[in-house]
Amino acid sequence: MDTLIVGAGFAGAVSARELAEAGERVLVIDKRPHVGGNAYDRPDAAGVLVHAYGPHIFHTNSQAVFDWLSRFTAWRPYEHRVLAVPDAASGRAYPLPINRTTINTLYGLDLDEAGVAAFLERVREPREPIRSSEDVVLNSVGRDLCERFFRGYTRKQWGLDLSELAAGVAARIPTRTHDDDRYFSDRFQAMPAEGYTRMFERMLDHPNIELRTGVEYALVAGTDRRRTVFTGPIDEYYGRRFGALPYRSLRFEHEHLADTPQLQPVGTVNYPNDHAWTRITEFKHLTGQQHPGSSVVREIPQGMDAPGAEPYYPIPNPANEALYRRYEALAAAETEVFFLGRLAQYRYYNMDQVVGAALALARRLAEGGSARSTAA
Ligand code: FAD
Ligand code: UDP
Repeated sequence: MDTLIVGAGFAGAVSARELAEAGERVLVIDKRPHVGGNAYDRPDAAGVLVHAYGPHIFHTNSQAVFDWLSRFTAWRPYEHRVLAVPDAASGRAYPLPINRTTINTLYGLDLDEAGVAAFLERVREPREPIRSSEDVVLNSVGRDLCERFFRGYTRKQWGLDLSELAAGVAARIPTRTHDDDRYFSDRFQAMPAEGYTRMFERMLDHPNIELRTGVEYALVAGTDRRRTVFTGPIDEYYGRRFGALPYRSLRFEHEHLADTPQLQPVGTVNYPNDHAWTRITEFKHLTGQQHPGSSVVREIPQGMDAPGAEPYYPIPNPANEALYRRYEALAAAETEVFFLGRLAQYRYYNMDQVVGAALALARRLAEGGSARSTAA
């Protein structure tokens, strides 16, 4: 074996395919009993295709990433829409990201685009410099919208106040003065036509790739190989010697509604201020599947101290990033071990960014050049 790849998610599967096509013999292992990492999908007991680890909507501005994945899947065009219900008792739902409709319906106004821009200019609390997610939100939409849509959701999702998270977290959500109500504005927005798992199966189907699922790294750590690409948590690889890197976990509550063809008008409804869950996603919107019933998932945030908790999100803030840098320094001293992906690089990566990073790393490795910098 030339390369051992730990993890069969986007980071592992994409780099495996690239290295295999470059002529290397690759062993891919994953401790889970399936491929796809957190993007894994499967039919539930009722036959509805669901995402086991929460909703995954593919979007990218990168033609190169989209073209590369298109070798392994056809696509179903899909533009994700999200409504937020700031007060569950009233049940009123507003488009998120905040846009012209959000402002007009929430405040009973009839503003045009310029009017919305002027409104936001009046209510925003300018911040300089912008360091935290609180700075981002107050600077763009002011206090009232922050309290209705952001502070409670963030507290639930992360167990932290907006002021305790790096700016990049809330900056994922834009503010709009026009009517566009799509969650993402990327050039390419689509779902793999037969699901993510099928796409991963095709990616990993190569004579130079051996795949073993249900295998923990510790079991093969001693196997002879030239190099390792590790896509699990970097602190775990190093035995947490500087302390555990904080990750946020979720519990997924899946439900099939046999007599409900459609539960909600859009793919996801967010509940910033009520309930234990942050959001409910209804899969048929995402996949376009026809079925007399419908399947949904509720995401309930939890700490890593919960029984069986899996790490899903790095928690971006200065203290955690400083701790990550200490692990990164260990990684930089390795010559034949490379850390790639959301858990290994401790970055709040979307799927397309992981694909980009994996292609960049695998191509450098295949060329035999210095691959020391694993960043995309
Ligand atoms: P993972 O998918 O986590 O893969 C790592 C794999 O390594 C896992 O399968 C794990 O089992 C395995 N592993 C770890 N340690 C070991 C070990 N010691 N031994 C063996 N195997 C090991 N991105 C988007 O672009 N759009 C979205 O809509 C979106 N929604 C998301 C929703 C949720 C709830 C979450 C959690 C993430 C979402 N993402 C989304 C992000 C997306 O999941 C990630 O960017 C991507 O899946 C990361 O791929 P990865 O290979 O780095 O990590
Ligand atoms: N966010 C929020 N209210 C919402 C949606 C998002 O406050 O209704 C904030 C929250 O801090 C969240 C971040 O914006 O963690 C990023 O949201 P996104 O939907 O991108 O999160 P993901 O899909 O990655 O969980």
